[in-house]
Amino acid sequence: MTGLGIADVMAVNEKATRTEEEIRSGLLHIWSVMENCVQTSLKREGVLPGGLKVRRRAPDWYERLKKETARPGDTGQDGQDGQDHYDPRYWQEWVNLVALAVNEENASGGRVVTAPTNGAAGIIPAVLFYALHFAPGMDQATEEDRDDVVVRFLLAAGAVGVLYKEQASISGAEVGCQGEVGSASSMAAAGLAEVMGGTPAQVENAAEIAMEHNLGLTCDPIGGLVQVPCIERNAIAAAKAINAAKMALWGDGTHRVSLDEVIITMRETGKDMSDKYKETAMGGLAVNVVEC
Ligand code: SF4
Repeated sequence: MTGLGIADVMAVNEKATRTEEEIRSGLLHIWSVMENCVQTSLKREGVLPGGLKVRRRAPDWYERLKKETARPGDTGQDGQDGQDHYDPRYWQEWVNLVALAVNEENASGGRVVTAPTNGAAGIIPAVLFYALHFAPGMDQATEEDRDDVVVRFLLAAGAVGVLYKEQASISGAEVGCQGEVGSASSMAAAGLAEVMGGTPAQVENAAEIAMEHNLGLTCDPIGGLVQVPCIERNAIAAAKAINAAKMALWGDGTHRVSLDEVIITMRETGKDMSDKYKETAMGGLAVNVVEC
């Protein structure tokens, strides 16, 4: 396997059960479902179901982003031209928007891609969105280049996801939110580092950094609903993934804690965690915030 990247190794593994074309079209389909999820969510307003009266924020934020990023000469309503402009000054707001949109859709029973869980479904789409619109050189990318980014990102993210599933857990009920949001953040960091040209050591480092700083994250959803803190938490974890990838890419891949070590640490931390913090809604925010 010398010379192959993490995405290449994952592709070889996948080829044991399907053709290269099936792998590519399957991954592109997954991205299209993620994109559709965001588009659907941006058109839905009002409060989320369940009684907490959590207002959907993504549609308003999208309108505001369009206004803030309008270009001179845009002639449409409120200075917009109907196009989305990916002004690099607003990368964080776009990433937040995608994460919120997906998780608000999840919280209302809409269609999301489980990646790796529904509660953490917004992180990979948000970071992949960043890769497609804000990573260096993407303004010159062809349609085929963009598809390659999607495929390589998801292969590398998937490779890391397999490790969490095999060696630890991706279940909040078993190990707390570190297994859901933490794993998704780690997977997304690996995907971004991969498509930004990371070596296998840098990709592994990116995944490790993202999980290292999610260790101990508890699951304490208010009212047992996947809304608070889950929706915002996805946006925060997406930013963490982007930072982890950037930190890894500024290094040479050498680091003190390996990805295997941090995965085992996550598993052990989850084992030691009180059941109050494992999706039971009996601790943390779930008991300290009054439901209304
Ligand atoms: S707090 Fe619990 S329910 Fe919410 S995203 Fe994390 S693991 Fe899922």
